[in-house]
Amino acid sequence: MARFKELAELFEELEKITSHKEIVRKLAGFFEGLKGNEVRDSAYLFLGSIGPAFENTTLGIKDRLAIRAIAGAYGVPEEEVIRKYAREGDLGDVAFVLSEKREASLTIEDVFERLRQIKEASGKGSQEEKTGLLSDILQKATPEEGKYIVRLVLGRLRLGFGDQFLLEAFSIAFTGDKKHAGKIKESYSVCTDIGKLAKTLAEHGARTPGNFSIKPGRPVKSMLSQRVESFEELEKRVQGKKAAEEKYDGERIQVHKDGDWIKAFSRRLEDITAQYPDIIEAVKKSVTVDKIVLDGEIVAYAELEKDGNRIEKFYPFQRLMQRRRKYEIEKYREKCPVAVFFFDILYLNGESLLKKPYPERRALLEMHVAVQGIVHLARRTITENIEEIEDFFNETVEKGLEGIVVKSMSSGSVYEAGKRSWFWFKWKQEYSEGMRETFDLVVVGSYYGRGRRRGSFGALLCAVLNEEEQRFETLTKVGTGFTEADAEEINSLLSAHIASEAPKNVSIKKGMLPDIFIEPTVVIEVLGSEITNSPGHTAGEGKEETGLALRFPRFLRIRYDRGPYDATTVKEIRDLKDGA
Ligand code: ATP
Repeated sequence: MARFKELAELFEELEKITSHKEIVRKLAGFFEGLKGNEVRDSAYLFLGSIGPAFENTTLGIKDRLAIRAIAGAYGVPEEEVIRKYAREGDLGDVAFVLSEKREASLTIEDVFERLRQIKEASGKGSQEEKTGLLSDILQKATPEEGKYIVRLVLGRLRLGFGDQFLLEAFSIAFTGDKKHAGKIKESYSVCTDIGKLAKTLAEHGARTPGNFSIKPGRPVKSMLSQRVESFEELEKRVQGKKAAEEKYDGERIQVHKDGDWIKAFSRRLEDITAQYPDIIEAVKKSVTVDKIVLDGEIVAYAELEKDGNRIEKFYPFQRLMQRRRKYEIEKYREKCPVAVFFFDILYLNGESLLKKPYPERRALLEMHVAVQGIVHLARRTITENIEEIEDFFNETVEKGLEGIVVKSMSSGSVYEAGKRSWFWFKWKQEYSEGMRETFDLVVVGSYYGRGRRRGSFGALLCAVLNEEEQRFETLTKVGTGFTEADAEEINSLLSAHIASEAPKNVSIKKGMLPDIFIEPTVVIEVLGSEITNSPGHTAGEGKEETGLALRFPRFLRIRYDRGPYDATTVKEIRDLKDGA
């Protein structure tokens, strides 16, 4: 049984290490010494969680309850905890200073189990129960352990690395060689439960990757599309017969059904079932088969009557964001009606369809989903002729849609979970109008506003993802395009992620240091015109290369559907600059 003390010590070490390789090496060394469920539980804990991303793992303890639990555990008044909190700035550090030295006795399992109990306490009296459970374990913990237990409970572990580091560590620890990391990353796109993945790899080693399958209840990572520069390129890329589907601008949704049990997941794998009761009810009516997994897009949508005719109205993505809420769901269901357009089927009655070609999947989709009410299938045209695709695109834009996705109909056109696949190509109206490029950038800092913008930010320091290093590198400062409402919303989002120093997975040049550092969490879409070399930014900077910068950036919208690791990458920026 591994001690929690060892994990806490490693947390402490990892906080200080910045080298990617070194972090992976330490993680691998740790995993090598673990067995079975400890492997699983530690994988979750390293990511500051107690379960897979698609499960609700919030423990329901906010500062107020944690303060009470800490006061109870160490026999001091709550006022003292609050005073120390103001000084230390972190409740974990407060637990550390209040706690007495003692012999370490807790195992990883003890702590994990306790965190689960805290999460599961619900209903009347649950606040007292949660506080009591936390207080009790703090009394058994050493100061170092107490610090990390409190941070874990509050969801503030923040070791400064993401799941990719763990996957690389699994490769070394469980297969004895880092060369399997690529395969493990592919497996993770299908088995998105990192704990389950870790445990299976630990038990079966190098034979495991590739053996994971999709199953209801566990969403797979979404397949994404490539973009092309021109229609001519499209013709070259997808030869022969191809399907052009309408591209709906809303939120990606993966619907899982197992009998009467239906759940919906977002592109970030969050469980969004409660947000869309209308979609769940509609799927129940449209799909009679027992077990199925569907992929599609939800859009803000209405059918209107005009001069006795029925017309479809597609609303922009922003409107759908009103449905991102925990409260007043019924009210907004009326206020912002939606429809779902399914374009893929990934699983049917015990059989994974991921390896079936698109034409076969589409035929099964049509067979098992009845188009009725707010359930639709993506409309499409099939042709070899590029002019016909152009006509279809024009009709699509005429309807108010953003463009098309052209899909290969080849026998190899499988569903590539988690990949920007060469079987799907998007073509949007803005490309055809020669409009500027858009980027999904991670906010890593902000500068104080002046004049009219006093009290808010003047500009945001934004970064792209360096995939190899798993680090965020700055690309541009965005100071225009925000409405007052945008600024207010961004301020409130950022306030939860303020960091006291530059987060260690962000690289910023000295001359570019912001007034406030932000943990990489919030992603915004930015329009920009030109990529230039710039010594002021770190994007793509290397021994030989200067950094890259985006000129004339303008804020477009917050991308709630993207996390920092889904942001535009250094490679994409470099390809754009080189005109690849
Ligand atoms: P964008 O901002 O252009 O939507 P993205 O990076 O979010 O890009 P891409 O994979 O590049 O995602 O573009 C395809 C996206 O379009 C899908 O992720 C999906 O959410 C949406 N979409 C809408 N209609 C379709 C369709 N018929 N087939 C596939 N994807 C579709």
